[in-house]
Amino acid sequence: MSAATDVISNAIGGALQPSASGRRQPVFNPATGEPVAELPLSTVDELNAAVAAAKAASVEWGQTPPLKRAKHMFRFKQLLDENAEDIARAISREHGKTHADALGEVSRGIEVVDFACGIPQLLKGEFSRNVGPGIDSYADRQPLGVVAGITPFNFPAMVPLWMYPIAVACGNCFILKPSERDPSAPMLVYELFKQAGFPDGVLNVVHGDKEVVDAILDHRDIKAVSFVGSTPIAHYVYTRGTQAGKRVQALGGAKNHMVVMPDADMDKAADALMGAGYGSAGERCMAISVAVPVGEKTADALVSRLKPRIESLKIGPYTDPDADMGPLVTKQAQERVLGYIDKGVEEGAELVVDGRGFSLQGYENGYFVGGTLFDRVTTDMTIYREEIFGPVLSVVRAKSYDEAVDMIDAHEFGNGTAIFTRDGDTARDFCDRVEIGMVGVNVPIPVPVAYHSFGGWKRSLFGDHSIYGPEGVRFYTRLKTVTTRWPEGIKEGAVFTFPT
Ligand code: NAD
Repeated sequence: MSAATDVISNAIGGALQPSASGRRQPVFNPATGEPVAELPLSTVDELNAAVAAAKAASVEWGQTPPLKRAKHMFRFKQLLDENAEDIARAISREHGKTHADALGEVSRGIEVVDFACGIPQLLKGEFSRNVGPGIDSYADRQPLGVVAGITPFNFPAMVPLWMYPIAVACGNCFILKPSERDPSAPMLVYELFKQAGFPDGVLNVVHGDKEVVDAILDHRDIKAVSFVGSTPIAHYVYTRGTQAGKRVQALGGAKNHMVVMPDADMDKAADALMGAGYGSAGERCMAISVAVPVGEKTADALVSRLKPRIESLKIGPYTDPDADMGPLVTKQAQERVLGYIDKGVEEGAELVVDGRGFSLQGYENGYFVGGTLFDRVTTDMTIYREEIFGPVLSVVRAKSYDEAVDMIDAHEFGNGTAIFTRDGDTARDFCDRVEIGMVGVNVPIPVPVAYHSFGGWKRSLFGDHSIYGPEGVRFYTRLKTVTTRWPEGIKEGAVFTFPT
């Protein structure tokens, strides 16, 4: 199966449709800087056609027995398993992450499909017999109709799979608007979805930018929108979508802290920070970008272990099986991250390892930045306050455990955090107190498994529902409660008091 076509098509009503849009932009291989595909920025008419196809399919699909919907889902999961290598290659070619990392992404996406296969059980309602004389009551969750998802570049296969398998299993039809940076992987996954035998119109893919996103947010036939991306856009999507009367869950950016207590195993903590800080070149919303050692001795021990590890990071293209991390996704992302490193120096942080000027022979035009470490970062600095989304780790030295927790709570983001310690009391207190949605104890990247749900607090999530897992089922359905009485139970005459 080919990983990408030259010009990326939309998928509307079960057919691949080239966009008529005159607006197009290239998709690059970040390791080489060469264009590998061309992406149309679709028109509002094309989005409207996708919504019409989804709406037409939604009545029958919503009535299809959940067990039958699950059968397609099982087939889809099998196809994903069989094609995981191809999907991973398509991800890496346009995103830049290593092949092993991309395979990990695919497997976390497949876990959500696995979860969605259990939809008959997940949709089982509640029944109460004899809520009154001869009266029974039941409550169940029904699909919303047409729903949409808008996804970021950093997990082009997994994040869409956080959304539509559950939405579709619940009986909805879906419009996906993937990232413009790496559209080939979601299209490959779409092809497998189609092969799994889902009816036409159940899943539609429309590529584009703000114009299509705005059309999604305003379209009266789209009942709910899932968004994952940066915080300013998440806030915008939430505000505009809810103003248009939609249910919206909008997941945003992050600045994840890892507290290292004096009693932690320092080598394990340093290893954990390497994977969590530099894996995927730091382009993960659950990346650790701030290390908070408690006490000067802890800080010195940690920094002395991190420095040689960062200096020996193996950076390369995804075709290099030994690479620990690859390039950043675009030239603009590379320039933005380099700008943050300059800013950190300017604002007085101590640059321990400088990733600027990194160059790889044969890949001079790739968007690489070397692993970077700042020590003695303070909370007023730009590199502390803002999400850098690159291979840059900041060490903020805390005098006490309480200072570390207060620092985390005061940050605008609340996605993930971790604590490394051998002390159960401290760990338990941390889990109770910290104002963060996902917490790890000696686990640096605490991404919940597919049968739990994923979501941050504060400005990392706008809306009331986390994504996937049981929260996903709630988000993509609405509750209906029915009370029944049959004629024999109905006494003659009108009753004007409130039913009891
Ligand atoms: P982004 O916000 O630039 O783009 C996300 C989506 O929004 C894309 O589909 C894009 O086309 C669309 N978009 C961009 N600008 C828009 C605008 N002005 N109006 C309407 N739509 C617009 O994010 P990105 O750079 O693709 O992804 C990285 C960001 O995503 C980081 O901030 C990262 O933390 C975040 N992220 C969060 C999570 C999470 O679960 N909280 C997961 C992955 C990524």
